[in-house]
Amino acid sequence: MVSSSASGPRVVVALDFPSAGEALALVDRLAPGRCRLKVGKELFTRAGPRLVRDLAARGFDVFLDLKYHDIPNTVSQACAAATDLGVWMLNVHALGGRRMMERARAAVEGSGRRPLLIAVTVLTSHCAADLAEIGLPDDPQALAVRLASLAQNAGMDGVVCSAQEAAVMRQRLGAGFLLVTPGIRSAADAADDQRRVATPGMAIGQGASYLVVGRPITRAVDPLAALEAINQEIVAAEAATSRERS
Ligand code: C5P
Repeated sequence: MVSSSASGPRVVVALDFPSAGEALALVDRLAPGRCRLKVGKELFTRAGPRLVRDLAARGFDVFLDLKYHDIPNTVSQACAAATDLGVWMLNVHALGGRRMMERARAAVEGSGRRPLLIAVTVLTSHCAADLAEIGLPDDPQALAVRLASLAQNAGMDGVVCSAQEAAVMRQRLGAGFLLVTPGIRSAADAADDQRRVATPGMAIGQGASYLVVGRPITRAVDPLAALEAINQEIVAAEAATSRERS
């Protein structure tokens, strides 16, 4: 069994690169004890399982961000395959439904170190009109909370959500549920194409467990220094949050 509470480095660096070589050049400048790594669809499609194994062999925890969504049998086999790769975290779409998530959970049980299973609720690229067009007329945030609750009941360890949603999710889903938040920018960073950003300190204050950070680290002149600045902001926010609670 794993604990659902966040532990170890909170920053998950998004390796949004088109080749293993470019990803590894960045990884060489980071340190395993200071961050985790996220491999998404582009890099995985180009570099494959071998890169994931390489990253794990270098001592990094890997979040395999492939957002599985298919019939329960297919998703469970994919989750078993990801578990065999030694990933630390993987994700599925909550819209795949309860049976799909329950089968995903069953597929990762029993390994030496069970990967964390995270659900994607409503894609942040979807606005209310997009959802209505595909037959989901609910308010996007209400739908996200409902899907998160379904995910929790189906055995998921947490959800991906924006820092803006984190406080509501934390309140509704309790302290042990993991909240993985992208869209992180320090005050001085460019927002890039992210619409709703939060600083690392704000995300922690809202209840985020792990922060997915891409370009503020991957495009920094000194990636390790950028990571350390974020880690320091997180430590300060954690201290402030625990002071508020006591
Ligand atoms: O470079 P940046 O920090 O914006 O990267 C954020 C990462 O988080 C990217 O890999 C992006 O695909 C991912 N992500 C996101 N928003 C979501 C879900 C995932 O930005 N809602």
